[in-house]
Amino acid sequence: MGSAQAALLKDSPPKDSARSPDTEVTPVTERELVIIGSGPAGLTAALYAARANLAPVVYEGTQSGGQLMLTTEVENYPGFPDGILGPDLMDNFRTQAARFGAEIHPLDVESLDLSTRPFALEVGGETVQAQAVILATGASAKWLGLPDEARLAGRGISTCATCDGFFFRDKEIAVVGGGDSAVEEALFLTKFAGKVTLIHRRDQLRASKIMAERARANERIAFLWNSIVTDVHGEDKLESIGLEDTQTGARSTLAVDGLFVAIGHEPNTALVKGQIDLDDVGYAITHADVRTSVPGLWAAGDVQDSVWRQAVTAAGSGCMAAIDAERHLEAEKFGVAPAW
Ligand code: NAP
Repeated sequence: MGSAQAALLKDSPPKDSARSPDTEVTPVTERELVIIGSGPAGLTAALYAARANLAPVVYEGTQSGGQLMLTTEVENYPGFPDGILGPDLMDNFRTQAARFGAEIHPLDVESLDLSTRPFALEVGGETVQAQAVILATGASAKWLGLPDEARLAGRGISTCATCDGFFFRDKEIAVVGGGDSAVEEALFLTKFAGKVTLIHRRDQLRASKIMAERARANERIAFLWNSIVTDVHGEDKLESIGLEDTQTGARSTLAVDGLFVAIGHEPNTALVKGQIDLDDVGYAITHADVRTSVPGLWAAGDVQDSVWRQAVTAAGSGCMAAIDAERHLEAEKFGVAPAW
């Protein structure tokens, strides 16, 4: 039995052991540190917190592992000179955190109440009280929502040029979107691709002027204005995309090896909306790098990062959050009110 499974079994019993079977009392479990999310940020926080004897519990969600589960080869995570598959990398993260005693549960946190310490979480039919919480729920790339898009994700369709661009050397690529992300992805992809077609649903980019200028000046980028992608085709890998002209309704097909969807990300902050400071887009605002506006709640990884968005930066911020949480909880135990 793996240590994570063993950990699942040694979950402490409900406090309210006197309840009768027919009274509906929600059991309460107390934890020192709860980590929500199981991407590089959450599992690195779990590793550091476990090694600091904080007995962290990780609610990894029913879709564990974060965005790397959607990638194939990861070649830019340091320490793996031959690259590693995204899901394998996340499996390593998980195994390493569990090895030091992090409890990892395949559950989604349903609600998080930050109005009093300890914080209260509803998860798996239980109320869990936590002295400290690290929010590592990540951000989700927006997808077009087309039939077969998910099937071909990682097989030609991607939401991360930094992760997957290298596999498209001398290939034909399309990028969808008109914001800074799309332009940045398109520019990056010209390092590899023979040709990059930027497909935008309007006739004007949303991207900042300087980025737009750079894209226009790049001979390898062609623009397809007023166009939407209507479908994606391919058996084992992407072969072509269907297009529709939003002005004329004319339909066409474009043969491409890669399609990068860059229509924005959504930070997964629904649990804390209205309880902590978020920016206009919904990212958690942090200070001292990983502290949120609520003492005792840290945010690490893509949930608070709209700029770098890399596995290695997420892991770094997870480490920072765990170390800061450990120092903070230790200071509280000694009655020292820590500055926040
Ligand atoms: P964004 O600014 O929200 O742009 C999203 C783009 O995708 C828009 O052009 C939008 O079209 C298009 N879009 C949205 N939904 C679509 C759909 N279903 N089908 C087709 N197109 C769709 O998102 P972002 O580019 O990810 O940028 C987010 C934030 O990060 C921005 O503040 C940006 O400045 C910042 N950022 C900065 C940098 C940098 O400075 N290097 C790099 C990346 C991101 P419309 O224009 O028609 O709405």
